[in-house]
Amino acid sequence: MELIVVPGGAFVENTYILKGSESDEVIIIDPGSQINEIEERLSNIKFKKVVIINTHAHLDHIYGVEYFKNKYNAPFLIHQNETPIINVMADAAMRFGLEEFSNPQIPNVDRFITENEELNFGGLIFNTILVPGHSPGSLCFSFIKKYNKEIDQEFVICGDTVFAGSIGRVDLTGGTNMNDLVSNINEKLMVLPDDTILFPGHGPETQVGIEKKSNPFLLGYA
Ligand SMILES: [Zn+2]
Ligand SMILES: [Zn+2]
Repeated sequence: MELIVVPGGAFVENTYILKGSESDEVIIIDPGSQINEIEERLSNIKFKKVVIINTHAHLDHIYGVEYFKNKYNAPFLIHQNETPIINVMADAAMRFGLEEFSNPQIPNVDRFITENEELNFGGLIFNTILVPGHSPGSLCFSFIKKYNKEIDQEFVICGDTVFAGSIGRVDLTGGTNMNDLVSNINEKLMVLPDDTILFPGHGPETQVGIEKKSNPFLLGYA
């Protein structure tokens, strides 16, 4: 299995590239504005098909979607609750006024995905976990050994819900409040086995057990 993290772009967002070793399909999760870096990593992989799946629709994670959709004729999947954020993509880009966001292209969604859905792409089977709070349709993608023989350690691609030592902001477009996000993280993610790796939308990977013990935002939750 390939699991490649491509950090870069305006807010040093992480794009994830995944592919099972027997598959000719590559999964791109959250292609942001680091388009050149993503292309460079893709050039080292053999594949015929691409699918683009997003954890959520904030500009730093969705900026590159339309580019890769066009280039590879790839379908784009996201939760329906992210639609209002997709629709204001151009406004968000203007507000930031950054060179990296100078040409925002709103992508069409090819398929809405919901919570507790089993997805099968790139030779991998994974499940969606809905963790709203940072945005209304924030999805995490859980890869477990039971369905994927190639996986050594179970992992979750968790978008901007939880980070190493921190959690997502709730004051951006579509955010709710801290209590909502914290309780969703605790009820949906912190219940996973302690050695589950968390791959967030920004910053380094961490593990469920580490965050349960030391994340200041999650401590003291009853
Ligand atoms: Zn975000
Ligand atoms: Zn982000």
